[in-house]
Amino acid sequence: MANETLDATPAAAIDATDTPELLRRTAELAAAYQASIPDRRVGLAPGVTGDTLRAALDGPLPQTGTDAWTVISELAAGVEPGLVTMNSPRYHGFVIGGAVPAALAADWLTSVWDQNAAMMLATPGAAVVEEVAARWLVELLAFAPETTVGFTSGATMSNFTGLAAGRHAVLRRAGWDVEEDGLIGAPPIRVIAGADLHASLQEALRYVGFGRRRAERMPTDDEGRMDVAALAAALSGRTEPTIVCAQLGEVNTGGLDQVDRVADAVAAHPNAWLHVDGAFGLWAAASPRLRHLVAGHDRADSVATDAHKWLNVPYDSGFVFVRDGAAHRAAMGATAAYLPPAPGQQREPFEYVPEMSRRGRGFVVYAALRELGAAGVAEMVERDCAMASRIARGLAADPGVRLLNEVVLNQVLFDVDGDADLTRDVIARVQAEGTAWLGGTTFHGTVAIRVSVSNWDTREDDADRTVGAIRAAIDGAREARRSGDGPKG
Ligand SMILES: *Cc1c(COP(=O)(O)O)cnc(C)c1O
Repeated sequence: MANETLDATPAAAIDATDTPELLRRTAELAAAYQASIPDRRVGLAPGVTGDTLRAALDGPLPQTGTDAWTVISELAAGVEPGLVTMNSPRYHGFVIGGAVPAALAADWLTSVWDQNAAMMLATPGAAVVEEVAARWLVELLAFAPETTVGFTSGATMSNFTGLAAGRHAVLRRAGWDVEEDGLIGAPPIRVIAGADLHASLQEALRYVGFGRRRAERMPTDDEGRMDVAALAAALSGRTEPTIVCAQLGEVNTGGLDQVDRVADAVAAHPNAWLHVDGAFGLWAAASPRLRHLVAGHDRADSVATDAHKWLNVPYDSGFVFVRDGAAHRAAMGATAAYLPPAPGQQREPFEYVPEMSRRGRGFVVYAALRELGAAGVAEMVERDCAMASRIARGLAADPGVRLLNEVVLNQVLFDVDGDADLTRDVIARVQAEGTAWLGGTTFHGTVAIRVSVSNWDTREDDADRTVGAIRAAIDGAREARRSGDGPKG
């Protein structure tokens, strides 16, 4: 390997059998990185590219082994320039949370314990922790007590799981067993979603055999919210098996479908299932002050969400909530001779998710919920929303900043001087400067900047520094434009 490009601590080899010493040294590396997060440059340093990283990390397939500490110290040194500080309180790209300390530490233990968390027989420890965390989540997010919970890798798999449960239920009511007979020859299922559905839901629709084009797209408003009157009209007088997909938290605006009204429309249909993609917006349910934004979420048949976004646990982690536990298990359970029967009361983790062998995802969730408590989760969600509003107010002081959304949640969407090229230049300048990180989008035809506040540790000072970085980038972009070296308009 091209070690001369590494700025590595000299890798004093350690006895290969001394794993505890390896872990202690690794913990020191990890602690140093962790301590650097609040003040670390958020985006990549100028000049870092795939090629500069390859120079440190690439090489021929190693033919012989290397001692573990050399591997770890060189991996850390080689990859560090290519890491983006996504867990920074000023990382505002996509919708990405950090990791609360107990969840981070529990994640380490999860690896050391190395449990295959498929079932109670294999690991009662992992199974019981999931069971307890599932019950806490149902209460925290104000679902009906009988709601079943699957611990997935994220909202994409949660969407997949919820849709599979819905597919089972609507086809069973139509006299078809989709688990036995598949979709070929099955009664057609109608799929209805808002026009601003997330790309991940489209993927999940493909995975359950519906195809992207099957979804009938209902019109949406300026916040990306589904037109419920159009939905009601689309459902009216129809009887075929139907899955309706609503959304809590449009990824650009944070816009929340009126799930209560959507649920009314769905309830009037004889065979419809309501699935909600609430990847981040669902977390408003954890706050008594914000819960009204998601009213009706407990009437949905299935709800998908992420834990690595707004619960702030390390990647990867999400949940699916299903009201009809039998449909959930029918879609995801497996039967094989060597598996123990699941007697009514006993919760088997694998019966609620696509995978069989899997990481003990319950540990980090349990740890985060205990560290924060219900009040702490609510406070975190409310504070992130307040910081999003604070950023929006700070930006609005510039008359050229046009806010494109109502900041109801944790997302701020805006453009600058109504100018797409200038707006893109502002994004590039913020990313290069390093105080904060944010990304761009095109929403309803407008090139815009997205700011998402999803980190447990974003405080007023961070919000103000983000505003300062954005406003400096706006000034820089305008100045470059005036002097002729900015992007061409
Ligand atoms: C992030 C997101 C998803 C996808 O979640 P993953 O965790 O990436 O699988 C789905 N829907 C919405 C609305 C999202 O914001």
